[in-house]
Amino acid sequence: MVRADLGLWGLMSKTVLLLDMYEAMLAALGKSGWWPASSSFETIVGAVLTQNTNWQNVEKALCVLREQNLLDPWRMEAVEEDLLAEYIRSSGYYRLKARRLKNVVFFLRDSCDFDLDCLVADFAADELREKLLAIKGVGPETADTILLYALDLPFFVVDAYTFRIMNRHGFVPEQTCYEELQAIFTENLPSDATLFNEYHALLVRVGKSWCLKKKPVCENCPLQCKRAWRKAAGCCQQKKNYSSAFIKGTGPT
Ligand code: SF4
Repeated sequence: MVRADLGLWGLMSKTVLLLDMYEAMLAALGKSGWWPASSSFETIVGAVLTQNTNWQNVEKALCVLREQNLLDPWRMEAVEEDLLAEYIRSSGYYRLKARRLKNVVFFLRDSCDFDLDCLVADFAADELREKLLAIKGVGPETADTILLYALDLPFFVVDAYTFRIMNRHGFVPEQTCYEELQAIFTENLPSDATLFNEYHALLVRVGKSWCLKKKPVCENCPLQCKRAWRKAAGCCQQKKNYSSAFIKGTGPT
């Protein structure tokens, strides 16, 4: 049963419900400290590398890039693409990702000469998002990850974990696109980059530890502690095919 039918949204203010969920996760798990990177450029690199893989594989690739002093936009611009691909082999789809990294680096060079403060100052936030989306290989999740975690702009990142949790709690139906899911958060929460940063991180942590793809472990889950959520989460015992529109394995833990 898809719990959107319960009309849960109608029973509580969306804002109150979303903030309740946030507080429950934060109380149980504590602050996440995302994004674990030593520079905004490293965050951008991580956002590209994490496409379609898990964070452990990304960390291995970042480690090699760090050893090669390539977590520097000027040096990454200069390195041969084939060599870059070898360095990031552990992240999977490494030739494609090397090309994508180059695309992003060329964009940063041409837009702001690698000065990210200028990038934020020179463009309206929505315009900047459009520019990122125009880069080949940068989709909504990667663009929003860059905007939020590298540039500290209030764009809510949604991913497969966000969809799974919100779907299992009846807030969105099976066929939900990225923008619809994102709008639930951006239209009902204060536009606050710090809040969006932590909220997304907490959802990923819940998704990885409790809200597993095949068999959710509702017992002791931070989102099981409120009666309304427990009722809504009753659907979680059913097997579902989740939307393939969402990329798996995003975000660090
Ligand atoms: S209570 Fe169950 S369905 Fe809800 S987030 Fe936790 S594991 Fe997932």
